[in-house]
Amino acid sequence: MIATIRRLAMVKMKRGASARVAKAKEEGLCVACLKELDTGRTIRGCHERCARATTRAIEAGHFTEEQRIAEGKLCPAETGGRPPSNPVSVEAYGEIP
Ligand SMILES: [Zn+2]
Repeated sequence: MIATIRRLAMVKMKRGASARVAKAKEEGLCVACLKELDTGRTIRGCHERCARATTRAIEAGHFTEEQRIAEGKLCPAETGGRPPSNPVSVEAYGEIP
């Protein structure tokens, strides 16, 4: 059996990548193809189809998730989820406004 895990890593963005992401967010563009986002789902700053194509290409070994993020062609995954309510979790992670 093979299990998929996610690990926390720091990625240094390449020159111009931050500007690419900022421009795309400001103008409502997909960070992968730089075309206007449509009414479909937006996943990690990309059209759903671009995000799926990115995932397939990563799984096929054409590039890594870190490379795509470093190039500004994929936004980092957000943690999402409900804010912590357990007293220990609130103490550990703080309350999220
Ligand atoms: Zn796209």
